[in-house]
Amino acid sequence: MRSILHLDLDTFFVSVERLRNTAFCGKPLIIGGVSHNEPGYQNRGVVSSCSYEARRFGVHAAMPIKLARKLCPEAIFLRGDFDTYQKYSKLVTEVIADQAPIFEKASIDEFYLDLTGMDRYFGCQKWSGELQQKVSKETGLFASYGLSINKLIAKMGTTESKPNGALCIAAGTEKAFIAPLAVRKIPQVGQMTERKLRQMGVQTIKVLREIPPRLLEREFGKNGISLWKKANAIDDRPVVPYRERKTIGSEKTFQIDTIDVSFLRSELLKMLKALTFELRNEKKLAATVTVKIRYADFNTFSKQKKITHTADDHLLKPVVLHLFDQLYERRQRIRMIGIQFGKLVHGHPQMNLFDDQAKSLRLLKEMDGIRKRFGKGII
Ligand SMILES: [Mg+2]
Repeated sequence: MRSILHLDLDTFFVSVERLRNTAFCGKPLIIGGVSHNEPGYQNRGVVSSCSYEARRFGVHAAMPIKLARKLCPEAIFLRGDFDTYQKYSKLVTEVIADQAPIFEKASIDEFYLDLTGMDRYFGCQKWSGELQQKVSKETGLFASYGLSINKLIAKMGTTESKPNGALCIAAGTEKAFIAPLAVRKIPQVGQMTERKLRQMGVQTIKVLREIPPRLLEREFGKNGISLWKKANAIDDRPVVPYRERKTIGSEKTFQIDTIDVSFLRSELLKMLKALTFELRNEKKLAATVTVKIRYADFNTFSKQKKITHTADDHLLKPVVLHLFDQLYERRQRIRMIGIQFGKLVHGHPQMNLFDDQAKSLRLLKEMDGIRKRFGKGII
């Protein structure tokens, strides 16, 4: 029997905004769309996150901002700052990585951990509670968790326990736990499926479970079988370990070995262009560049240079060409060339160095504020 923990941060974007500005605490706060000082802000975008105070007015995620504004005109509307959310997400990830060897980052604010076998030593429930406390102590963010025999039931447990809650669904009780819940509580059951099920007279998971899988397959195709499995608490998906990419690179082996330096240079620059695009796309910056060459006799050489964090072609171009010139000294035919960027960090390529420093200083200040409020003194 497996022990799977699902940990999910409560109103993540909202909570981050409240750490940055305590004036937002206790008030209806809605993240999404376009900010007040931009023209046309009223009618664009959807709600990406909202506080419980706003939910009381019927506002929910994915609702058009325009409607949210109508339901809750006194709410504070923020555009959201994804880069900052990423940074806080990374902080939480670090706390979890510190404690758990096997975990999966399922989204910016939710994690699965495989605790199978741990019960013999600590007790999964006690351990999970301690992790939940550690997360809020070290990041200032609250999380809820569900603990059960698979990912599905653990996640549904988390949802039922929110906010700042915990639910352990012991082996053998998972079917009883989900039976009374509405079908829309099953992850991946959207409005369409819910409506169709309602038309079939199905509102609770208990009723859904009693429908023959053949019938569900006829109505929903392949999704019907998966729906039936979920209603029966069946889910054998594994926890897939999370690994952040620390390098990015590409290599090119030529059909015919070449000695044409200008061709080699232009191939390197093509490669560079594609790689920096990939970096910027993933919002990452590199701190090392490595150029590699392989001669026709398979002897391979590489040279690395440290750089200031960047994803800018114009800054990287001379570095790459210089490394190549240093490497290519034998004047023999070349079989393969490659570039690799290393020590990747999350960062915004458009910002210049000064802005970047100002921003990280601000973040450090925020962190210090959190540590002061949630530091050792509190527990
Ligand atoms: Mg969440």
